[in-house]
Amino acid sequence: RDLVGTAPAVEEKALEAALRPKALDDFVGQATVRTQLSLVLQSSRIRQTAADHVLLSGPPGLGKTTLAMIIAAEMQAALRITSGPAIQHAGDLAAILSSLTDGEVLFIDEIHRMSRPAEEMLYIAMEDFRVDIIVGKGAGATSIPLELAPFTLVGATTRAGLLPGPLRDRFGFTGHLEYYSPEELQKVLRRSAGMLEMQVTAGGFVEISSRSRGTPRIANRLLRRVRDWALVHEVNEVDRAAASAALDTYEVDSLGLDRLDRAVLEALCTKFRGGPVGLSTLAILVGEETETVETVAEPYLVREGLLARTPRGRIATDAAWEHLGLTAPPQRDE
Ligand code: ATP
Repeated sequence: RDLVGTAPAVEEKALEAALRPKALDDFVGQATVRTQLSLVLQSSRIRQTAADHVLLSGPPGLGKTTLAMIIAAEMQAALRITSGPAIQHAGDLAAILSSLTDGEVLFIDEIHRMSRPAEEMLYIAMEDFRVDIIVGKGAGATSIPLELAPFTLVGATTRAGLLPGPLRDRFGFTGHLEYYSPEELQKVLRRSAGMLEMQVTAGGFVEISSRSRGTPRIANRLLRRVRDWALVHEVNEVDRAAASAALDTYEVDSLGLDRLDRAVLEALCTKFRGGPVGLSTLAILVGEETETVETVAEPYLVREGLLARTPRGRIATDAAWEHLGLTAPPQRDE
């Protein structure tokens, strides 16, 4: 294929789309969610109805959008994609809902960011496949019910707890996506390398997976950077040393920590002698929203044993000091 002249960002997007698994069987890892979801889909196929609404929670890049696409494909239904921040008025949502066709799958990413009125409209739509359109203002306002075609809502959020109870309860199935193990990431990488026609040794896959932050999206991105490096250095087969040299060039952290992860740890260690410090103070210091620090950075840092949550606040562990190459003060308040 001739990709000369294609804007780089476009090529990256096209590659990311091409690397997405299309069927549930090709989806690596997340065995529990996969088994449960497969039952939900099979049952609705037997009953010949739209599948129950599905809520997917978990940190970014673990495959929520990919799963929504797979749900639509497995149900042989069309897919409509939108996001919570894009739906600020109930009217925006009414327009989308009323245009859905029978059995269509509606994917709402970041569903916890929808406005309150839109959220309330969604409750009724999910339960009764109806929206109430308000016409007029004040005492003369009337509500006109509008029937909707039965649809399947797939909602994605970084944490199910961010959703108000009434909305959460209206999902028939909730799946929580976990970070991927290095072995699972190697499977994802193996499949992607095959599609990119790259030669990578087992050691090469091990090296890339260990720096991928448990996240397939990052694994695929690092693989593309390694491909660039190999192409320029005329390396035909990427082994562990080559992968390591390539990723060092891009300053990819040896544990896969990203900018926010490192900023959180550095703030904890250098500004608070390792803590304990409250979440909101930490968020202000790194210039992020509390929710982002809590649902995006923290789960991975905790999993890697770099940060601990205590009743008095967050603390950096010995491993965190070591990873940052800093010396922990002798008397730390733990
Ligand atoms: P966000 O919430 O930020 O949209 P996401 O969780 O929806 O992230 P996706 O966009 O679905 O993440 O996945 C990111 C990329 O990772 C996709 O391009 C896909 O190729 C790859 N990917 C995700 N999960 C898997 C998987 N289980 N097997 C293989 N590839 C995967």
